[in-house]
Amino acid sequence: MSIKSSAEAGTSLPLLFDTHCHLDLPELLPQIEHHLQQARALGVQTILVPAVEQKNWLPLLRLQQAHQFAVALGIHPWWAAGAQREALVLLQQLGAKPEVCAIGEIGLDYALDEQTFSAQELLFSQQLAIAKALKKPVVLHHRKSMVQLLAELKRQQFTEGGILHAFSGSYQQGQAFIDLGFKLGIGGTISYERAEKTKKAVQRLPLEALVLETDAPAMPLAGFQGQVNTPSQLALVFQALVELRPEPAAELAAQLWQNSCQVLRLDLQSRLLGSA
Ligand SMILES: [Zn+2]
Repeated sequence: MSIKSSAEAGTSLPLLFDTHCHLDLPELLPQIEHHLQQARALGVQTILVPAVEQKNWLPLLRLQQAHQFAVALGIHPWWAAGAQREALVLLQQLGAKPEVCAIGEIGLDYALDEQTFSAQELLFSQQLAIAKALKKPVVLHHRKSMVQLLAELKRQQFTEGGILHAFSGSYQQGQAFIDLGFKLGIGGTISYERAEKTKKAVQRLPLEALVLETDAPAMPLAGFQGQVNTPSQLALVFQALVELRPEPAAELAAQLWQNSCQVLRLDLQSRLLGSA
């Protein structure tokens, strides 16, 4: 499947928002200008880049100054074991900056070794409390952990909402997060034949609760396995969603854009890539 750029096609492309892309990781960073340019040519106007560990926070904020994407700061559960206590103090300080629109990527990953669970749980709970204190939404990572994430959100009476990134699951599982004010990040999963349950759920869930994401450089779409995923692939995620949903493409794009800006509390016109 190939997609023409708007210039080639002579039409205006829908504005798309990649709500989860790790532009600062080594697979993408060296060619960041190229990736942003490719993405823009396919209608991807804005990207949220969530940090994965403390040492990336300051470099990511510097990168944001240069490229005008949106930023979330946090420690991903894969890096929980090595996290320093001081990180939480720093997260509180940096997280308060207006350019940091969310705390993330945070969460729980129960596909990891059981020995990491207690460190993960403590760190998730602490970072969620920081988001609550800062009144900012969160970007959540989940694997085999939806029940525990929901329980902690409820225990802390967390009402700032956020994005459940890389949604895969049933209608009921999705709805449980929507009930707590969350949007569901829809990515390359829906391009796979075998993702029947998730596709059925995405077909039926309220459009107001969906946002798009690539999770680049991870999560390549069907047909691109083994390749580095890039933010320009968001156009294909969008096409896959158009095929699933009853709404016309233009309506879909407009609502997804609005959902993304709303959950991250961004101005609807703001942060167009490269418009600094
Ligand atoms: Zn991620």
